Amino acid sequence: MSGAALQSILAIDLDALARNYRTLATRAAPAACGAVVKADAYGLGVGPVARALYRAGCRTFFVATLAEAEAFRREADPPPPVELLALNGIAAGDAEAALAAGVVPALNALDDVRAWNAAAGRLRRKIPCALHIDTGMNRLGLDADAVAKLGEDPALTAGLEIALVMSHLACAEERTNPLNREQRQRFETLRQRLPRTRASLANSSGIFLGADFHYDLVRPGVALYGVNPLINDLNMMSEVINIKGKIVQVRSVDRGGSVGYGATHLVTRPARIATVAVGYADGYPRSLSNRGHGYLGGTRVPLVGRVSMDLTTFDVTDADPALAHPGNSIDLIGNGAAIDDVAADAGTIAYELLTRLGRRYARVYSGDGG
Ligand SMILES: *Cc1c(COP(=O)(O)O)cnc(C)c1O
Repeated sequence: MSGAALQSILAIDLDALARNYRTLATRAAPAACGAVVKADAYGLGVGPVARALYRAGCRTFFVATLAEAEAFRREADPPPPVELLALNGIAAGDAEAALAAGVVPALNALDDVRAWNAAAGRLRRKIPCALHIDTGMNRLGLDADAVAKLGEDPALTAGLEIALVMSHLACAEERTNPLNREQRQRFETLRQRLPRTRASLANSSGIFLGADFHYDLVRPGVALYGVNPLINDLNMMSEVINIKGKIVQVRSVDRGGSVGYGATHLVTRPARIATVAVGYADGYPRSLSNRGHGYLGGTRVPLVGRVSMDLTTFDVTDADPALAHPGNSIDLIGNGAAIDDVAADAGTIAYELLTRLGRRYARVYSGDGG
């Protein structure tokens, strides 16, 4: 068998991505719907993802850093008008590079505002920026004192063109958490002290908190990629990724035999064990050892033994023997194995699974978002 025949597949459905964008945009209307494509579009590839989202109607994109903005321009660069913002902020010393990449920095503290205002003076031009206000997350953003100072002293922002005022919710996926309303109230109070401009508060989950959370622009990330934005609710998003773990070998193990490193799984009946070409080096969490499962022809097959670096073992005794053979594959995420369930089994969240997907998969994109 050739190398490719033993390679596991990461299938990415760009039409499902576009469908998810349209679902969220419809929910958010009349607010505009942007898309968060930081961390290489949550691991799925900023080029194909941003191009598909652009075709679906998206005109505002968020990355984390200047380097990601430059990658966005290199790999996707949809035609103007497209707005691109960097959520982590950008050092004012990189102002020229930021302008060249056409990326608007989020200013997350008073010192950022001072430094960018000075950069505007130095470059003799107005510089567009977003002001990020902290309303309870205590991670990034201007606090109430900083907002008051900006409100009182227009000279502090004289060189800046404030394109957006934003804040970020800490508990949006818990619909009844009182912090959501508190944060919205604080956002409401603080933004009144600033020059009037577009406002943005909601991430994926925030879109489902009601129209008063939508403001002018919503910023979904994870739901675009098929992850459930609401806990304890049916997932209305379409599945975007499917990992097909290639079976490289199927063997019989007698009762009493053990499987994998540390001999942590003991076979209690004569078993058929399928070894799949995916391991923790591919971002398949080692914490799924003896806990995870996959699907083979619709049959749930338990992951047995430890996940190793390049290989993982499944008990396929109960699956159709005609399907359990080298070259066929076990669905590890998607096609039965819901990404949120896999994440829960691994003791993590789907965000982490997505952003840690390894580079060894054969990445297969389907659809185009049109
Ligand atoms: C990552 C991020 C988002 C997107 O959040 P999701 O939960 O993935 O929808 C929105 N806003 C900010 C500030 C972020 O950091």
